[in-house]
Amino acid sequence: MDQPGSASVASLPGIGPKRLAALAEAGYHRVQDLLLHLPSAYEDRRQIVSPEALQDTGRFAVVGRLEGLRRVFTRRRGLRIIRGQLADDQGRLAVVWFNQPYLLQQIQEKAEVLLYGEVRRTKSGDLEMLNPSWEPMAVATKEIVPVYPSLPGLSSRRLRSLVGGLLDDLDLEAVFEDALPPQLLESYGLPTLAASLYGLHRPGETVDFDTLQAGTSPFHLRLAYGELLEIRGRIELARSRHLPAEKPHRYDLGGGLRKILAQVPPFALTSAQERVLEEILRDLGKPAPMQRLLQGDVGCGKTIVAALALVAAVENGLQGALMAPTEILAEQQFRSLQGLLGDRCRVELFSAANRHALEALAAGEVDVAVGTHALFQDSLTFRRLGLVIIDEQHRFGVTQRQRLLAKGTLPDLLVMTATPIPRSLALTVFGDLDCSVIDEMPPGRGELQTAVLPRARRKKVYESLARTLQDGGQAFVVLPFIEANEQLEVAALEREGREVRKWLSDCSVALVHGRLDRELREERMARFVKGEVQVLLATTVIEVGVDVPDARFMIIESAERFGMAQLHQLRGRVGRGREPAFCVALHGTLSADARRRLEIFESTLDGFEIAEADLAQRGSGDLEGWRQSGLPRLRCADLGRDLEWLERAREDARAMARSPIDASWSRFREALEERIEERDAQRLTGG
Ligand code: ADP
Ligand code: MG
Repeated sequence: MDQPGSASVASLPGIGPKRLAALAEAGYHRVQDLLLHLPSAYEDRRQIVSPEALQDTGRFAVVGRLEGLRRVFTRRRGLRIIRGQLADDQGRLAVVWFNQPYLLQQIQEKAEVLLYGEVRRTKSGDLEMLNPSWEPMAVATKEIVPVYPSLPGLSSRRLRSLVGGLLDDLDLEAVFEDALPPQLLESYGLPTLAASLYGLHRPGETVDFDTLQAGTSPFHLRLAYGELLEIRGRIELARSRHLPAEKPHRYDLGGGLRKILAQVPPFALTSAQERVLEEILRDLGKPAPMQRLLQGDVGCGKTIVAALALVAAVENGLQGALMAPTEILAEQQFRSLQGLLGDRCRVELFSAANRHALEALAAGEVDVAVGTHALFQDSLTFRRLGLVIIDEQHRFGVTQRQRLLAKGTLPDLLVMTATPIPRSLALTVFGDLDCSVIDEMPPGRGELQTAVLPRARRKKVYESLARTLQDGGQAFVVLPFIEANEQLEVAALEREGREVRKWLSDCSVALVHGRLDRELREERMARFVKGEVQVLLATTVIEVGVDVPDARFMIIESAERFGMAQLHQLRGRVGRGREPAFCVALHGTLSADARRRLEIFESTLDGFEIAEADLAQRGSGDLEGWRQSGLPRLRCADLGRDLEWLERAREDARAMARSPIDASWSRFREALEERIEERDAQRLTGG
């Protein structure tokens, strides 16, 4: 292999066997992999000043000699401070480093260095530089300098010099041939892939520093657009391949079925529910399998819509399957469906423990199978699976979805999620699905009020919770999930439990969490649902789906530890009855981000608004749905920001998929198909 850029990273200076192994472990094998390791920030060193010239706070590059370096001892364990001064003949600047124990071995007293970092004002009014990066003056240059996320054994500084060497030696245009049609890039004013990578690693002096720092430079945009195009390209290619398929089953949606459907709900459907049901029935009547996403905020009433779709399937001689993400939710869905459809259909719950109905399912005697992942075990076979419903899709990957679908012949698919998904995410993660939204709550709900309060108010909050309980209400207390390890987590939970019990001395309190023995957890939840337990103390296992109309008070402890979307999900557990309901989020010390999150949470009940804000704040990489979707990680694109590019990518990808003969797209098409195959192969081998 003598492709430029394909040489092993072992060929680089200073990469011995140990680093080589660590890099390989992290997925860096060839030198071109290093070139795809992008800077996460930049330092603007075009202006270099002397200590004396500094008058104000901000980020600066300052040069001088380091003097008086010393370790400062503090009482706080684990905090290591190094202080010193940067001096020249005219002036000096105080410098402080936190938690950089090796610094004193690396820098020598009196060394001439360039420091870059934040200059702040101390309490006494003096300027001080905080945690600066440093570089011997001999090698420091006046330019914008990239900062890299470190790799095993390679600091940002080492990476900068390795990558710099590569940029000098390699012709990037030869290493990274651009698969996109050149006229397309031109029309958007975007540089080629190679030019973008070069620009990101070595921005030069003319580029706008702010866009570089914000990730919106033309170089970033080129990569972002490429990522989005790849995602949309996959979807469109898959669509163009699968479109002509006709499902083997046909629906009779005539008056007979209508009459039966009208008898199922114990209440009048909201107009949103009606509308969505019609969309679903229309899909069922089409020759191609339905692929629909049903979004609706917690409590909007998705279950009845699912139930009606199942009735339509069963009445047409088909079997249905409903998959939920956890045992608790599967059980609850099973109970709801049993209640709604029990007289009409045979509904069975399948779990690891409950498999008695396997034969009946295979024989077609079971009409509707409800369960968790247990549903796609090999031992489960259907006679005529025609409709697959997946609840809380964001917890399942696309592959899992496929495995369940494969148990029928082109069954119709309905995916339901209570997490409102911003449009941009829906277009990417669920890009292959049509979208329905229930945007209306069932009538007769009491008002839901939210308060965000500091932990200092805890006693008062628990007192008002106690009053709600005296009036016959029920309550949730949500404790933050501690991921450290099982024992620690459970111990902490139990300690909190004892404390809460102290506040609520005469009330019945039950504790549930994910690590609890299944039967015990089920029993406690059931007692809460029946009203025998007044307060359910829980981790986020109650996050989705649990429906208890008398629950009208929720306390979320350490709310700053939850994401906005998650808080909103939790809040949806209360306010399902007629009485007014309260959700109190208690918090400890707040970071600026956490404060912002809680403010938004307090200010709106609109799940879509919250979802958009969440996306804007966290970026798509952090979203749970994204990580589990099997889509490539986004390095540059930001779905909270790049909606406009996403729309372009969608149109362009469609054009690409629809005209396979268009030569300008052939490179991109081939590259994409190759990558899809690679991925499929990895999946098949369990990779
Ligand atoms: P989710 O969309 O979160 O799954 P559910 O389907 O569990 O919501 O519905 C929440 C509650 O609202 C349930 O108790 C359900 O019986 C009730 N409900 C749903 N639709 C209506 C309606 N049209 N009128 C009155 N109550 C309804
Ligand atoms: Mg639900």
